[in-house]
Amino acid sequence: MTTIGTPLSPSALKVMLLGSGELGKEVLIALQRLGVETIAVDRYANAPGQQVAHHARTITMSDPQQLKALIEAEQPDLVVPEIEAIATSVLEELEAAGVVRVIPTARAARLTMDREGIRRLAAETLGVPTSPYKFCDSLQELQAAIDDVVGYPCVVKPVMSSSGKGQSKIDEPDDIRQAWDYAMEGGRVNHHRVIVEGFVDFDYEITLLTVRALNADGQIQTHFCEPIGHTQLAGDYVESWQPYPMPSVALQKAQAMAQAVTDDLGGQGVFGVEFFVKGDQVWFSEVSPRPHDTGLVTLITQWQSEFELHARAILGLPVNTALKSPGASAVIYGGVAAEGVVFEGVDDALRVPQTDLRLFGKPESFATRRMGVALAYDSDVNIARERAKEAAGLIKVKLVN
Ligand code: AMP
Repeated sequence: MTTIGTPLSPSALKVMLLGSGELGKEVLIALQRLGVETIAVDRYANAPGQQVAHHARTITMSDPQQLKALIEAEQPDLVVPEIEAIATSVLEELEAAGVVRVIPTARAARLTMDREGIRRLAAETLGVPTSPYKFCDSLQELQAAIDDVVGYPCVVKPVMSSSGKGQSKIDEPDDIRQAWDYAMEGGRVNHHRVIVEGFVDFDYEITLLTVRALNADGQIQTHFCEPIGHTQLAGDYVESWQPYPMPSVALQKAQAMAQAVTDDLGGQGVFGVEFFVKGDQVWFSEVSPRPHDTGLVTLITQWQSEFELHARAILGLPVNTALKSPGASAVIYGGVAAEGVVFEGVDDALRVPQTDLRLFGKPESFATRRMGVALAYDSDVNIARERAKEAAGLIKVKLVN
């Protein structure tokens, strides 16, 4: 049975978010609503989630000493990773010592921290279908992997990166050097390792939000949200909508793969499981053991958004993954590089029928930084998509005069 105390008192149930961007912010709000005491950690001050938490802490989360010292000082009941670049060895050590519970588990955080652990687990241990792939540590290895394993076209990605950074498609031998150089620039941590994957000529891609939550008997039960369709530009999500009408054979395959992967990762919480689909064929792409950016759409489409689902699942509370209405999300990019920008057209955007908005409050904008998201609902998902895009387009990010 879950008990929740009173925030800022000795009985408080304390949850620490490692990563406090726009996704973490919504998880923090959901936790606050349930009377949880929250600690928002990020690498820079005034991160979105830090603006809504009881406590804000700024450290380098990939530094084991800093991370360990912070967890030991704050003594949270739960540690909830919201980003990949975390010193997961510390989480494993503290979890094993019984100091904290890590969401979903410290092992899941380690395996999904880069592309290698999770790809090998899914493809090699669990036998889940993926694109053909190879990990490479040099330009020569990349060349050989393309010749011997994946062929053309293919996609190169740094093993540690997200949002398309350092990722590019190779169509012919002349593209290889540039793709390698770009991956070296885009990787989050400076180590020279990439994954090269055969290009999957999919019809569409989906995120299947999968929730591991306790049932009334205290047993884990897996729940699926309706599939979320999304479009990506240079590896970064620009638009998502829910539900995506999939043939039932493909949906069943995706659910079975999501079940296999999340059963192995274990723990409680939301997982964003990404698939490529062509007809009845389904390939596993990746999984985040936490809410997923394309799932921002659930803020308008579900009775419980993916953030509320995560908060409930990690606290051992019941969840409801039912759809409220079809709907869509469209990303609002910074467009400019500046601190303390101004958003114009918020009123116009919200006059688009059946829309809503989240402005994340990021202290600094850059051209390709996600600064907000427009949301829309309608019984016709295509109308919702148009309205979300229209609302997003009406927001103008401006420099302060
Ligand atoms: P990722 O960072 O791995 O999620 O990749 C970002 C996006 O790039 C995906 O959502 C796809 O749109 C595209 N992509 C990644 N890998 C492949 C692949 N092997 N074949 C085709 N498209 C891909």
